[in-house]
Amino acid sequence: METLNPFQIAIEQFDRAAHRLKLDPDLAAILRQPKRQLIVSIPIRMDDGKVKVFEGFRVQHNVARGPAKGGIRYHPNVTLDEVKALSMWMTWKCATVNIPYGGAKGGIICDPKHMSAGERERMTRRYTSEILPLIGPEQDVPAPDVYTDAQTMAWIMDTYSSTIGYSCLGVVTGKPVELGGTKGRHEATGRGVMFTIEEACKAMNKPLSGATVAVQGFGNVGFIAARMLFEKGARIIAVTDSRGGVISRSGMNPEGIDAHKTRTGSVMGMTNTAPISNAEILELDCDILVPAALENQITAENASRVQAKIVAEGANGPTTPAADQILFERGVFLIPDVLCNAGGVTVSYFEWVQDLQGFFWDEDQVNNQLERLIKRAFQEVNDLAGRERVDRRTAAYMLAVKRVAEATKVRGLFP
Ligand code: NAD
Repeated sequence: METLNPFQIAIEQFDRAAHRLKLDPDLAAILRQPKRQLIVSIPIRMDDGKVKVFEGFRVQHNVARGPAKGGIRYHPNVTLDEVKALSMWMTWKCATVNIPYGGAKGGIICDPKHMSAGERERMTRRYTSEILPLIGPEQDVPAPDVYTDAQTMAWIMDTYSSTIGYSCLGVVTGKPVELGGTKGRHEATGRGVMFTIEEACKAMNKPLSGATVAVQGFGNVGFIAARMLFEKGARIIAVTDSRGGVISRSGMNPEGIDAHKTRTGSVMGMTNTAPISNAEILELDCDILVPAALENQITAENASRVQAKIVAEGANGPTTPAADQILFERGVFLIPDVLCNAGGVTVSYFEWVQDLQGFFWDEDQVNNQLERLIKRAFQEVNDLAGRERVDRRTAAYMLAVKRVAEATKVRGLFP
């Protein structure tokens, strides 16, 4: 029976790359485990006057190459193992695109859709206060993830700044532009997904214009990726969100879907579309599949029925190791999460650089630098995969693990 425990999966992926690299077992033992794991309880007063205690986490996997970096997730199914896996994936992601960060992640077990803005603000501020000893612009820099956004980051920045007594912009990224955020951050992950798909099409000698696209998870990443692919002439034929989805073979305009979702709360019920489920969209006859929701969507059970020629992992961890193997053997062009969705952390890095310097870039500069870094990483991963005859996830890991291992080795073992 294949494991769906995200941390077990992260370890399995790491071991595969470490084995190919013939990594020193001492280094491998260090890199397999997170450096720090903090569990906090977060008591807040709810709108009905009662106190509710939430559980939250912040995990730093590795800081060998620079401060820890990673988002904060609000979701009822958050677990410590999920946060550990996500923190490890952040280490490899930052190293894949070669930015000077380690990996971290945070999360709170909660149902933000059923909380008021006031409750979410109080929860965010108390969580920030509880993880405060770990975070800071030179220590650990959080960012948005599932069901957290620029507003959440503004509350974190304000709580941190109020505690230390002065305004600190660089403590989080993904902030509103008025508060030291960067232009282009909101679109960055989706834009990066589009760049990697563009490169994959080039590598396969297939035009992106006219290609059919299915997007699972029409949120920040999924919507922006769909919009940018649409602008490149691709046909968006199906999208889903947590409630279900819609399909239209003639194609849909993502702006129209977004407007419908803003109006009704879901993509479902769009005019001139038929319903499609979250399981069905993964097996749809299309050129490009973008899983942009949560982990463990493509598994040993359904991987043999995936018909897309390109799978672009907008989400973190949507494909299990067993499914990786099946897709690889079937010749599916998989763009692994650590490369595909690295646009977000790359522009977060640009935001942090701007905050530290107090000097802000225009949007073209952000987008051009993003394109340069993502396309360079794509080339390095794709070349290595070809040379070593391994799947592209293993290639990305080999590149990343080697960089982190070299930094760890040259720093030496303290004490
Ligand atoms: P989001 O909250 O904006 O959107 C998530 C979307 O997924 C929503 O449309 C939601 O309805 C849908 N969804 C939730 N549960 C689902 C389910 N069970 N089945 C299908 N759809 C479901 O979050 P996001 O920031 O777009 O993140 C999506 C994924 O991308 C996550 O895996 C996240 O870790 C990853 N990611 C995000 C960023 C970023 O910059 N936001 C960067 C890198 C990776």
